[in-house]
Amino acid sequence: MTDQQADSKATTIVIVRYGELSLKSKGVRDRYEQILKNNIQQMLEFHGVSFSKIQRDFGRIFIHTTDPKAAEKAALVFGVVSVSPAYSCLSEPAEITALCADIGNEMIHDGENYAVRARRTGNHSFTSNEIARQCGDAIWNKLLEAGKTPAVDLTNPDKEVFVEVRQSESYVYSETIKGPGGFPTGTQGKMIVLLSGGIDSPVAAWMMMRRGVEIIPVFFDNEEYAGSIVAEKAIDNAKVLFSWTPGRKQKIYRIKNSEYMTKMMQTTGHKNICLMCKRFMFRIAGAVMEKENASGIITGSSLGQVASQTAENMLSETYGLSLPLYHPLLAFDKQEIVDIAQKIGTFDISIRSNGEKECLAVPDKPEVKAVLTAAVLEEEKFTFDIDEMVQKTVEEAEIIVMKI
Ligand code: ATP
Ligand code: MG
Repeated sequence: MTDQQADSKATTIVIVRYGELSLKSKGVRDRYEQILKNNIQQMLEFHGVSFSKIQRDFGRIFIHTTDPKAAEKAALVFGVVSVSPAYSCLSEPAEITALCADIGNEMIHDGENYAVRARRTGNHSFTSNEIARQCGDAIWNKLLEAGKTPAVDLTNPDKEVFVEVRQSESYVYSETIKGPGGFPTGTQGKMIVLLSGGIDSPVAAWMMMRRGVEIIPVFFDNEEYAGSIVAEKAIDNAKVLFSWTPGRKQKIYRIKNSEYMTKMMQTTGHKNICLMCKRFMFRIAGAVMEKENASGIITGSSLGQVASQTAENMLSETYGLSLPLYHPLLAFDKQEIVDIAQKIGTFDISIRSNGEKECLAVPDKPEVKAVLTAAVLEEEKFTFDIDEMVQKTVEEAEIIVMKI
């Protein structure tokens, strides 16, 4: 359809569909829909998409816009199942069929067959089947006029024209873009994410963000034990994650961890260093969680992926600690994680390398089958008070605040 035809026939609209929200009770659904609408607005503004109005209407959100980027950007918002850029007209058969004919003629090439799919809600003088048939006929005639050979195939068509009839307005579209699904950001509280510069933890964070969680990344800068680009990678990954939930003030905790590492390594058996490093991260994350009034800790652990992530180690690392740890990637294969990392935009950051080892404290042969009490016994050997170390480390954290 040319711009001129579009202008004369209809205003342009983006239909936004959401899924699981509709299972909620009315009060909850209302609140979630309002949040989703605000989040869509923030996403459009973040990407400089112009629109005149965003409107909620019976289980759908409609964006009034002529900006061609609107649908693609709205399809990034958590909670959105799919979107369709559409043309609208009054729910009059003559208008609907004329619009279908124009759109059909624009998208159906000679030799291609087509189908019209219609849905209807409200009171009208026609059924959805009737309007589908009338639209099919209108397209047929328009294709003939244009010198093409029309052919209908309702089972396996080359092209589909969708018609959605509502009480007073109708929408015609041909394209549906998948959204991420899940819940709108801000509906499932805040969680800490242990975010490294690696591939896994940004993906773990994103999976939980998709379920509506707002994240507070906590990054351990092991300074003298870490490669020089690790911190930069973690912060860049955090920024990419924040760009999925734009329009908010965001915070990253950069934890300076060298003092603990040095003291811990003086008494810890060589093979248990990773175990004790991890346990300290969990303790710090727990303290930051309380400070931030958050309700969980997310990690990128994936069972068996590296030496430290055996079930025995994971149990020993957390033995005696009472923390709500979430490992959304626990059952994922590496390639599945890589595929998501590429899709969400963190992969290229995570694989940046300057040839340096990323962690200099990792022993040659780390423990892979820790006994239950291994970490607790190592902590008993510490020459410093662990709670004081946690408190001091959190107090000395650098808090990076940004608006994205
Ligand atoms: P990732 O790719 O996320 O770095 P990994 O495969 O390298 O994970 P580990 O190094 O064992 O695995 O880390 C497991 C999890 O511990 C990470 O996914 C992350 O949640 C957390 N973690 C590891 N290193 C750090 C760090 N420097 N700062 C914050 N969290 C970390
Ligand atoms: Mg790592």
